[in-house]
Amino acid sequence: VFARTGEQPGSRGISAFIVDADSPGLEIAERIDVMAPHPLATLHFRGCRVPKSQRIGATGEGFKIAMRTLDVFRTSVAAAALGFGRRALQEGLAQAKSRPMFGAHLADLPLAQAKLADMACKIDSAALLVYRAAWLRDQGKAITKEAAMAKLVATENAQQVIDSALQLFGGRGVRVGEVLESLYREIRPLRIYEGTTEIQQLIIGGALVAAAATGA
Ligand SMILES: Cc1cc2nc3c(=O)[nH]c(=O)nc-3n(C[C@H](O)[C@H](O)[C@H](O)COP(=O)(O)OP(=O)(O)OC[C@H]3O[C@@H](n4cnc5c(N)ncnc54)[C@H](O)[C@@H]3O)c2cc1C
Repeated sequence: VFARTGEQPGSRGISAFIVDADSPGLEIAERIDVMAPHPLATLHFRGCRVPKSQRIGATGEGFKIAMRTLDVFRTSVAAAALGFGRRALQEGLAQAKSRPMFGAHLADLPLAQAKLADMACKIDSAALLVYRAAWLRDQGKAITKEAAMAKLVATENAQQVIDSALQLFGGRGVRVGEVLESLYREIRPLRIYEGTTEIQQLIIGGALVAAAATGA
């Protein structure tokens, strides 16, 4: 939980805490249903006492901790999106190879192959950005820009790959219960949480401008 503890104005007055789910005074006021299942809720804290020992870092460091955590989580959200995209390509390819079409199969048609090629390029370009962010982080490097690039490209590309795979399935793709129908819903929130695509653009653009100003 990130809470205002008020040592300083703005983001310097926020601290981070671990709050046990069964803490007295913590209540789940409302579960929030979204298009793909996700554990979301509105929480109420009334007289909920949290011992100092459950504070993460120093007081007022919460915002910094959240930002550092985002670098890791953005890379892992990107990796999750990559997995969704890979599954979609696998499903789309299998469908194209098995669907009879004009005396051959869908996969034999140039337009279907172009779609598959585009999907594979989107997946591999996302994969390379994810691997770079993870590798740099393992070297102990700052990865704010690289994590933002991985998150932006992997989530946006996965959405497009899933859409293309669904198109290869035709009407079957939108049937409730089909893998592609589920992936189509599952991928959508990943372009929003851990910072929307637009926020990633601001981070990347801002980093480029800052680096140009310092000549780095
Ligand atoms: C499934 C799911 C799980 C989530 N899990 C968590 C969680 O675990 N923890 C948590 O803290 N939050 C979580 N969130 C919240 C999530 O991080 C926010 O929804 C997200 O950051 C967007 O904020 P917002 O909803 O307030 O949209 P807004 O901030 O209102 O944004 C609306 C639109 O405006 C755009 N926008 C914002 N600023 C700019 C700008 N400067 N220039 C141009 N466009 C801009 C955004 O990109 C977006 O398109 C979750 C959300 C979802 C959907």
